[in-house]
Amino acid sequence: MRRLAFVLGSVFLAMTQANAELIINGQPVTTTSTPSSSPVFSAQNNFQQCIANLRSQAISSGVSGSSYDRYTQNLTPDYSVIEKLNYQPEFSTPIWDYLSGLVDEERVQLGRQKLVQHREVLNRVAAAYGVPAETVVAVWGVESNFGDIAGSYPLLQALGTLSCEGRRQSYFRGEFFTTMRILQRGDLTEQQMKGSWAGAFGHTQFMPSTYEELAVDFDGDGRRDLVSSTTDALASTANFLKKRGWQTGMPWGFEVRISEGMSISGEGRRNKKALSSWVSRGVVRADGSPLIQGNLSESSSAGLMAPAGANGPVFLVFKNFDAIYSYNAAESYALAIAHLSDRLQGQGGFSKAWPTDDAGTSRAERREIQQFLLNKGYDIGAVDGLIGDKTRQAIRQEQNRLGLSPTGRAGQQILRAFRNENAQKMMK
Ligand code: CA
Repeated sequence: MRRLAFVLGSVFLAMTQANAELIINGQPVTTTSTPSSSPVFSAQNNFQQCIANLRSQAISSGVSGSSYDRYTQNLTPDYSVIEKLNYQPEFSTPIWDYLSGLVDEERVQLGRQKLVQHREVLNRVAAAYGVPAETVVAVWGVESNFGDIAGSYPLLQALGTLSCEGRRQSYFRGEFFTTMRILQRGDLTEQQMKGSWAGAFGHTQFMPSTYEELAVDFDGDGRRDLVSSTTDALASTANFLKKRGWQTGMPWGFEVRISEGMSISGEGRRNKKALSSWVSRGVVRADGSPLIQGNLSESSSAGLMAPAGANGPVFLVFKNFDAIYSYNAAESYALAIAHLSDRLQGQGGFSKAWPTDDAGTSRAERREIQQFLLNKGYDIGAVDGLIGDKTRQAIRQEQNRLGLSPTGRAGQQILRAFRNENAQKMMK
């Protein structure tokens, strides 16, 4: 998404959820608007006409006429973004696949390096916004792999196209005009304003409207720069979480152990209850210690979240989890950030295993699977650790050949089978 089709990042991750709802910076872009009946690949002059028609709307939103003319005069549509908008994954990612790719040893190690490298700024950010360094760095790591993957779509082109074609045009028009206002103010240049196909950009992958509302200038150069200034980006992330309700000194949540046979039906992140009620139902922390510790009290409010049901890891989540959730409205996404922040603080993995006989793989292991597939002659593109449709098809074929269930997943089972096969080949 950020780069070609299969890069980590908000929108793609949200779209791989079971319900393929498009979610950007906390705003669900639902599919309930008028279904697009217009042909997707309309003639270019329709695009030029549309852009001309939007001029007065842009001006009333605060874009000057001369800015509008300058930013649109050479603008051409890029219909590949409409394909992304309409993409419906045939495959829904199990939570263990999702988390094992986002919170792997590589990202934990890199995150720890970033904590050291940016210690001084992160301390100032934590003091100013009350959000711990590890949480800020975890968002950064999940959103853009610490600034490594920020997207290459020119925002004016992507958002201009989305303003004139496909569903949710009015939403994207708002972002299109906001992009122009940002450029007009001189915070960022057109060259800098590149991002995901849907318009999320920079280290923090903010949408332009989120940028306008929440970006801060923390290095004091007078510009809010989430593209070239790590300092501004880290502070803006912390500001986002603070404005979305982060409570200083409180946890996001933690893994818990529930008593055998306890019903979790109807429970969830939103259904928060006083800790005293969870205590009375026999819930304890995963290590067996009591729920109420540190700044928590009997009246602290938490919801019970069981992403894979009662047989997988179960969590109590507090208001701070909701703040993370608002970054990108998907619980699995928020859990990835929350868990990465714990790992950066030195904690280990979850104490309960996910209910599967085919656990997820790290990005390093996914690259290993891809290399095996390439060696076997499959045309799956580059070895990048990102599992796309081609890789899934190849895995399915191999699973069939090996007598495994053809799930198409790059899990531990197929990796083990490939390693075994390879070892046998070496023996001969
Ligand atoms: Ca700045």
